[in-house]
Amino acid sequence: MPAMKLYPLFADLSRRAVLVVGGGAVAERKAAALLAAGAQVTVGAPELTPQLQRWARQGRIAHRAGEFAPGWLDYVWLVVAATADRALNARVAELAGLQRIFVNVVDDAELSSFQVPAVIDRAPLVVAISSGGAAPMLARLVRERLETLLDHSLGPLATLAARLRKRIRRRHPDLAARRRFYTALFDGPVAALLRSGQPKQAAEAAEQALLVAPAAATGSVVLVGAGPGDPGLLTLRGLRALNEADVILHDRLVSAEVLELARRDAERIEVGKQAGKHHATQDEIHALLLEHAKAGRRVVRLKGGDPFVFGRGGEELEFLREHGIPYEVVPGVTAALACAAHAGVPLTHRDHAQSVRFVTAHCRDSLDTLDWRALAQERQTLAVYMGVAGLDSLRERLLAHGRAASTPFALVENGTRANQRVVTGTLANLPERAAAHAVHSPALLILGEVAALADRLAWFGAAPLGGAVAAVRQLKRPLPPQEAAIPLRRLA
Ligand code: SAH
Repeated sequence: MPAMKLYPLFADLSRRAVLVVGGGAVAERKAAALLAAGAQVTVGAPELTPQLQRWARQGRIAHRAGEFAPGWLDYVWLVVAATADRALNARVAELAGLQRIFVNVVDDAELSSFQVPAVIDRAPLVVAISSGGAAPMLARLVRERLETLLDHSLGPLATLAARLRKRIRRRHPDLAARRRFYTALFDGPVAALLRSGQPKQAAEAAEQALLVAPAAATGSVVLVGAGPGDPGLLTLRGLRALNEADVILHDRLVSAEVLELARRDAERIEVGKQAGKHHATQDEIHALLLEHAKAGRRVVRLKGGDPFVFGRGGEELEFLREHGIPYEVVPGVTAALACAAHAGVPLTHRDHAQSVRFVTAHCRDSLDTLDWRALAQERQTLAVYMGVAGLDSLRERLLAHGRAASTPFALVENGTRANQRVVTGTLANLPERAAAHAVHSPALLILGEVAALADRLAWFGAAPLGGAVAAVRQLKRPLPPQEAAIPLRRLA
C-alpha cells in the first residue's frame, strides 16, 4: 500500500467533454461544478431535474435521453456516475475503466478511479482536501477550519500576482530576491489594502513596490480587539493577525486563552494598565509600538474588548499616523455586548429600553463630566465600564437626577469567562450588593429596566446572585405562564 493512496492533481477541463450519468439532484450539483470549471458537460439520464432541463434547453449542457449505453463514453475525458442505482454505477465504472477514462462514482470511493476533494475556493487560488475516502467528514472539518483561516482577499491577491508575474521575474532575476519580494507582496501593505477593500490602491502599491529598490522590511501595527475573554469571541481577522504577528503588545485584560492562539514564536509583551498599579504608561506603549514597527516587525496591539471603546485606540492611531507607521484596526466584541449576551440581558427591548449608552466611571473626575440628567432617564440602558470603585457616587447621582430606586441592575464580573458571576439587584442596594459579593474588576454594570431579565434569561455559567427571583430559578422548574407574564417592574 503506497503512503499516499491518491495522487493529487488539478484537471483543466475547459472545453473538454465530461459525462455525468444520472439526472437527479446529485447529478445537478456535479454538473454545476463541472460547468463552473468550463467543461463541456453531457448529462445522460431518462429524466432531468427542472434545472438540468433548463440548462439543456439553453444549450449549456447536452442531454442524452434514455438508459445508459456504452457509446455514451466515446470521446469523454472524465465520467461522473451519479445515479441512485449502485449496479448501474458499477457498470459505468467498469466500462469507463476498460477505456481508461477516469470515473468518479458519487459517495463510492471503491468504485471510483478519481475522487473529488473538499475545496476552499479563493479562485484563482484553490485548496483541495482529501482523506482518500477514509474519512470524508474529517476532510470536511479540515475544510471548515481552513475556510476560516484563509481570507477572501487571497483571490484578488493571486490575480494581482499573476498579472505582475513576468515583470517581477524581470525585476528580480535572483530567486532569493524574488522570494523576498513575493513575501512582502503577500504579507505586507498590498495584501492589507486588499483585505481592507481597496483593490485600486493595492494595485498601485504593488506597481510602486516594483519600481523602488528592494528596501528593508517595513513594520506595521494592527490594533486588534481581543474580545471579553472567551477565545470563541475573537474575530477571524483578529485570529489571522495573531497568526502573523512578530510582536504582541497586550493589555492585562486580554485572556490567556486568546494569547494562546497567537503564533508560537511571537514575542509577547504585557503593557496592561490596572487602576492604581503602574504598568507601562501610554507614552511608553507608544514608544514600544514605534520601536518594534521601525525595526520592521509586524506588531499586534491587542486590547480587551474593542480597541475603540474606552481603549485609547484612537490615541495610538494618531501617534502611528504622525510617525508614518502603517496600521489596521480589527474590531472586537466589546464588554457591554459580551456581558449583556452572557448574562441574558438584551441591551434594548421593544417594551423596556429604546436606547443604550456606554459610559465609563472610573474616577470622581470622570463622574463629574457626565450628563447625569440624560443618564438618569427612564427606558434606557446604561452599560458602565470600570465602575466597581464608583458605585456609591453613581447611585447618589442617578437618584438625585430622578432615576427610580427600583431600577434593576446586573453587575457582570469576568463576563464570558469560566468564572463569570452576575449579581443582580436594584439601584437602591447596588453598592451594598456589589460589596456583599466582593465584586472585582473586570466587571461591567448594566443598569436599566432590561436588567431584570437577567434573573430569567440567564443561560451561561453560574445562576445570577439575585433576590427572590433567582430563588425561583433555582427551583429548576419553568416559570408558570402567569408568572412569566409579570411586567418587568414587578419582577424587580
Ligand atoms: N476596550 C474594552 C474596555 C476597556 S475598559 C472593551 O471594549 O470591552 C475596561 C473595562 O471593561 C473593565 O473595567 C470592565 O468594566 C470592562 N470589561 C472588560 N472585559 C470585561 C469582562 N470580561 N467582564 C466584565 N467587564 C469587562
